[in-house]
Amino acid sequence: MKSTGRDSVNSNPRPAVLTDFDDTAAVQNVAEMLLTKFGDPTWQDVRRRFREGEFTLNQYQEITFRNIQAGRATMQGYVKQNASLRPYFKEMWRYCQDRQVPLAVVSQGLDFYIEALLEKEGCGSVPVHAVNTRFDAQGINYEYRYAVPGKEELGNSKGVVVDSYRNQGHYIVYVGDGMSDFEAAARADLVFAHRVLADECERKEIPFRPFTDFGGVLQAVKELTGGLARNGVGPLTEHSDVEEAR
Ligand SMILES: [Mg+2]
Repeated sequence: MKSTGRDSVNSNPRPAVLTDFDDTAAVQNVAEMLLTKFGDPTWQDVRRRFREGEFTLNQYQEITFRNIQAGRATMQGYVKQNASLRPYFKEMWRYCQDRQVPLAVVSQGLDFYIEALLEKEGCGSVPVHAVNTRFDAQGINYEYRYAVPGKEELGNSKGVVVDSYRNQGHYIVYVGDGMSDFEAAARADLVFAHRVLADECERKEIPFRPFTDFGGVLQAVKELTGGLARNGVGPLTEHSDVEEAR
């Protein structure tokens, strides 16, 4: 799978940038921010049981958000007041729009809080591949549109989203921080990782570049699209950089 990406760099790469949301595109873990503010106090116990393997990720999320003491608008308002996008995300979105480079958020989180932050930061048209929610009098209804066929009970798979972009011929730039990002990172052509994902990539010998903010990601996308050629740093030079980072 890796060689596919290298081949596409050699010809004419058509990058697509896919980024995780909580702790990556967003500075904060917005899901946990909401649970801390509005959730049942037992949510951290449920998180511990999820980490010990008792619950799947989607079960953990549905259980903890079941008893949340706030409606959609209240939570969105709280996100807009208290969360922020990581530096250079907006600049990268503008560059990607100018160059017709797809950029999307790929998250195991819930669409309403992701969309709230993107909207606040003027990035409301960024596509979001996350858990789709619908609020009614009984609570939150969940829809998983990116499940692996036959494994719907596990909820969404980030690998399914990566594959959908890859199948359109894109060179996948993936940015993430957690264990749920690993299946995506393993399928990507260029990985930016921090925290748990960086540790896991190291353990599994998946090459990655360290992630701190989107400045480095933007630089890589500019190089891939030839945007730095005027400065004498063209795609071929970039290609060797990519190889060194692997
Ligand atoms: Mg994350």
